[in-house]
Amino acid sequence: MTSPRLEISLDKIFHNASTLVSRLKPHGISVTGITKACMGDPRFAETLLEAGVRTLGDSRIENIERLRRAGVTAPISLIRSPMLSQAEQVVAHADTSFNTELDVISALSDAAGKANCRHNVLLMVELGDLREGIMPHDLEVFVRRTLRFPHIDMRGIGTNLACLSGIAPTNENMLALSQVAEHLDKTFCEFGTAMTTVVSGGNSSNLSWVFGGCVPCRVNNLRLGESILLGVDPLHNRPIDGLHTDAVTLFVEVIEQKVKPSHPRGEIGLSTFKQFQAAPRENTTNQAILAIGQQDIDPTGLTAPSTIDILGASSDHLIIRQSERAAEVGSEISFQVNYSAMLRAMTSPFVSKDFVKRTHGGAAAPQIRQ
Ligand SMILES: *Cc1c(COP(=O)(O)O)cnc(C)c1O
Repeated sequence: MTSPRLEISLDKIFHNASTLVSRLKPHGISVTGITKACMGDPRFAETLLEAGVRTLGDSRIENIERLRRAGVTAPISLIRSPMLSQAEQVVAHADTSFNTELDVISALSDAAGKANCRHNVLLMVELGDLREGIMPHDLEVFVRRTLRFPHIDMRGIGTNLACLSGIAPTNENMLALSQVAEHLDKTFCEFGTAMTTVVSGGNSSNLSWVFGGCVPCRVNNLRLGESILLGVDPLHNRPIDGLHTDAVTLFVEVIEQKVKPSHPRGEIGLSTFKQFQAAPRENTTNQAILAIGQQDIDPTGLTAPSTIDILGASSDHLIIRQSERAAEVGSEISFQVNYSAMLRAMTSPFVSKDFVKRTHGGAAAPQIRQ
């Protein structure tokens, strides 16, 4: 086995995705499976599709191209506003893109015209989190202009909350998004509801709104990544009942194991990375070094086994203290990862990714908390 590596249980991913699909269905909400955290890995995408996800989304056109090269034919949305310089790639590989700039939509229309195809756009609306989005009062003019581009079809609207300012999705802002859809339907009634077919309410942070008693509204789609991979509601950093929170595990090899003094010795300046070392009680510690570092993971996002404290990390070293038996050089230690640690590990070429699928039966469902 190569080390370090992320083991991704496709059975647990399948369970998480199909559970979310079936819990959202009664609310009239479809799931777009977001593949960016796995860099558009086709094994992850195929598992989502088998679990009942109908459309995929990714923030990077390179990942979408990877999915297409692997033969994925499901509809895929580019969920980050396209770069002007990538308009041709976008219309070639993505069915739909999320947009907030007329110059970009204009370039997409030109590129689609040249490629003899049409391109769908979904317009993102700013509702308080202050990341991407058209200001609601500018939307009507924006739509009017969008409808004039000859090779563009407007398919819907969406919003993204919680990611930058932590603004919670609530009945209030989801109803505001619904009202935007209704206003557009009325203003542009010659299009019927075709241009607001999709009302995409947000990401994994919207789940506590849905499961916590959402009022019925026009929101009919959510874009889910983190909740499928990690089984958590990112808004409260809480596990979601009935989902696996250990579908992704990091394994790292021990390269040094020594008893060392608990306190560093010498004049103290600044270290390259801010460390998070708790004051030790003993004079010496059972210290080990693992072969992974800031380049590959966010050390603050790792959860170690209970007998291990993480002391800190430099570019290539993760330093731990062990209260029990010291791990031998060459042995492996496993960690649970949060989104930030997972994202960096997935992106590091030094961390291998093992997608594990059991041939018989799926992973047993986790217990639901009462
Ligand atoms: C990353 C992203 C998502 C998915 O977010 P999760 O918290 O992983 O579910 C949804 N929408 C947009 C626009 C994104 O950039």
